[in-house]
Amino acid sequence: MIPQDFIHQLLDRVDIVEVVDRYVPLKKKGANYMACCPFHGEKTPSFTVSPTKQFYHCFGCGAHGTAISFLMEHAGMGFVEAVKELADRTGMTVPDDGQRKPEDGRRDRLLAVMEQAAQHYKGLLKDSAKAVDYLKGRGLDGRTAAAFGLGYAADEWQGLVAAVADYQDGALEEAGLVIVNEGKRYDRFRDRVMFPIRNERGRVIAFGGRVIGQGEPKYLNSPETPLFHKGRELYGLYENRRGIQQAGRAVVVEGYMDVVMLAQHGVDNALATLGTAVTPDHVAKLFKLVDDVVFAFDGDNAGRKAAWRALENSLPQLPDGKRATFLFLPQGEDPDSYVRQAGREAFEKLCDEARPLSDFLFDELSVRAEPDSPEGKVRLVKLVEPYLAQLAKAPLLARSLRQRLAALSGLGGMETRRRPPGHGAPRPPARPRAALPSPARVVLQAILHKPERLANLPELASGGDEDTTQLAAVLAVLREHPELADVNRLESFYQGRPEETMVRAAAVALLQWSEDYDSEADLRGAWATLIEQSARRQAHAFAGRKLSDISAEDRANYMAALKEKKLDRLSAVKPDR
Ligand SMILES: [Zn+2]
Repeated sequence: MIPQDFIHQLLDRVDIVEVVDRYVPLKKKGANYMACCPFHGEKTPSFTVSPTKQFYHCFGCGAHGTAISFLMEHAGMGFVEAVKELADRTGMTVPDDGQRKPEDGRRDRLLAVMEQAAQHYKGLLKDSAKAVDYLKGRGLDGRTAAAFGLGYAADEWQGLVAAVADYQDGALEEAGLVIVNEGKRYDRFRDRVMFPIRNERGRVIAFGGRVIGQGEPKYLNSPETPLFHKGRELYGLYENRRGIQQAGRAVVVEGYMDVVMLAQHGVDNALATLGTAVTPDHVAKLFKLVDDVVFAFDGDNAGRKAAWRALENSLPQLPDGKRATFLFLPQGEDPDSYVRQAGREAFEKLCDEARPLSDFLFDELSVRAEPDSPEGKVRLVKLVEPYLAQLAKAPLLARSLRQRLAALSGLGGMETRRRPPGHGAPRPPARPRAALPSPARVVLQAILHKPERLANLPELASGGDEDTTQLAAVLAVLREHPELADVNRLESFYQGRPEETMVRAAAVALLQWSEDYDSEADLRGAWATLIEQSARRQAHAFAGRKLSDISAEDRANYMAALKEKKLDRLSAVKPDR
């Protein structure tokens, strides 16, 4: 458990705008920042980030939270990981409660040696005429090499001795930098151009090494280590994160040189798998990142096979509303060679025209089934159906493809029967009509806008509608704990409790008030309404009763309310200053 106090201090120090902007480029609009929501598909921005109140809110899907929840929801981090990431950024140290898992320390150690190695390789690149010539020969310029942190591993058995404090350190072995064989220790990467592989957070977790000139293996990657699982990582995720968000599309290619060269030519939204086929984990990661994924493959046989595997692995992970398409490069070309000779626009045109997953699926299986005969039509149904059954996350797409299959095969009605109502497509939730906020909510909003007002606010008589009762309770808590008079703190305090809705509503409404908005009049008006309602309620309760039947306390409340109402509605709230 990380102490709540620390979380508060941390959230006070980080800037949510900066945190979100690294993943979702934001535009300033009025007092807030906006973008198209990363949590649901939309064309006009309703995702709002408040720099003054330090939270985000989407008016389309209701996504809402702090910098910590953003990293958890969007970047897929765990709570502790998100807190650590933010703490690193602000130079704070997460208090050690003795429950830190031993793996954390080990992981940090591995990350540290990877970083040292990356710096070392990078430094060597400048001094190696051989490596520089090789990269130049491939058309790579220095700026791109620097952006991707390329390096060079010298042609030495123990080159890393110069990079680390202790070459005997077991972490080097565990990180896959050093090989131990019959008691001898030596560098895994020798005489290769080095591509550091970074995770989403920019930490080096592995390397890819390209041989210079001839030699085997052509590409050598880090082995599986506690930091690196090649079936999950994508090269370029960190370097191209902005390009991907801006394009709203990721292009998945086969090699890291493709990613680098595409970026140099202005296609900065490519990613590469690392010596593996596209796995379901990759696909899940991709669709978390972006709605539109283009898988680019070479046009040869191997490329078609790899594409089919990518299709198979995409089916279970493809959510309705997201798009997977397949691009085949002209015979003999890869993205690197293609973009060099044809340029960015031509490459992007290929992406625009890539074949939708459904076309690829039907075309390939039609070739196998030869659906010209009745037998062939049945064969087609038998072939396609198992694939459609895998579209677990895309029921709408599955249904539409079954209709297409029925039309193609002439075997309609088999799989396309109407489902009973209520089991079909979920209807998008109707946007609730904006109701006028209750006076209680306005009061809370005004307090959260300028928390210093709390000291001047009179007590609120109990009773009344739900909002007013809740407001009275919230104000009582705030008087006791003035440090909670902050949107995020108050929300986390009321998390899962009935008051949460009201606090959330006040927070969202606050997005309309800039820091210097004069909310005094709103507060006074709402407060006066509350007092008036309270007086009316009392009067109603007293109607027809004898004065002697009414308790002294009720009477006092009533008189106080009457007095306030009569004297000056507004005097109940003392001015701010
Ligand atoms: Zn949204």
